Amino acid sequence: MRKSILIANWKMNGSLHSNQALLVRMLAKLRPFRKTIDMAICPPFPYLFQVRDLLGYTGIALGAQNASRARSGAHTGEVSATMLQEMGCRYVLVGHSERRALYHESDDDVATRFRQVLSADMTPVLCVGETLEEREHGQTMAVIERQIQAVIDQSGISGLAGSIVAYEPVWAIGTGRTATPEQVADTHRAIRQFLENCETGSGRSMRLVYGGSVKAANAAALFSSPEVDGGLIGGASLQADEFSNIAAALA
Ligand code: 13P
Repeated sequence: MRKSILIANWKMNGSLHSNQALLVRMLAKLRPFRKTIDMAICPPFPYLFQVRDLLGYTGIALGAQNASRARSGAHTGEVSATMLQEMGCRYVLVGHSERRALYHESDDDVATRFRQVLSADMTPVLCVGETLEEREHGQTMAVIERQIQAVIDQSGISGLAGSIVAYEPVWAIGTGRTATPEQVADTHRAIRQFLENCETGSGRSMRLVYGGSVKAANAAALFSSPEVDGGLIGGASLQADEFSNIAAALA
């Protein structure tokens, strides 16, 4: 049985002051759901320490938004997976569409980051998804399969099956435009089938979450399919009420 998970991706938002205020409110509101669903908060790197302390023993995990493809050494500005593990991170996002589009991370880059996260004993959250143009040209699954295959090539199907995949259609991220529950369920089903074709059982065991303009108002519908194991939440994770109402819809 797959346990549902809700992941907050704060992106490049926050400050020491606002993080503290947000988390104090949010943690109180999330308390009723802590046993039924897994939850994680992914702040920007400089706030990992602060957020780790505020999360304390709540059972809500710490996550990071990226990890370097290199292990260590002369890579100015990079943060390695082992450093994140040492800071207490349990999850690391890899291949977010903003990283792919704005920072030119290729499928191969993303797969290397994924492998580094795995080898540092954390759970990678592999973000995949198509652009609007790709969807309109009927290329959704070809794009997602290419993104996933790059990871399988480096980490094997077992590495992927033990991780989390986040389906985030690029056209639904930060746009206010969500995929319909049917589109989400169909794509999730196709992703699981792709993995099942690689190795029986892997598609069923892997946790697969949806991200892209999830709000309290649409969360219940988006999470209604048994194919959907939770959400990766951007904008709405910066508001205590919104995020806890999304948790309530999943719990
Ligand atoms: P929004 O929820 O702001 O659309 O962002 C989704 C996302 O990119 C989460 O990683």
